Amino acid sequence: MGAHVHVRLSKGLSVSEDGELVEYSRCRCGATWTRTYRVDGDEPDHPTS
Ligand SMILES: [Zn+2]
Repeated sequence: MGAHVHVRLSKGLSVSEDGELVEYSRCRCGATWTRTYRVDGDEPDHPTS
């Protein structure tokens, strides 16, 4: 086990059905992360009906 320091490489962004911004990232070793961000205020692509 080495002292590997993960490097988060952004893989892309998407928006969940709840209107949250989801960011996917991964390290070269194969580790992955998913982070979600609350989008408060402006919802540019969220139809309300
Ligand atoms: Zn790593």
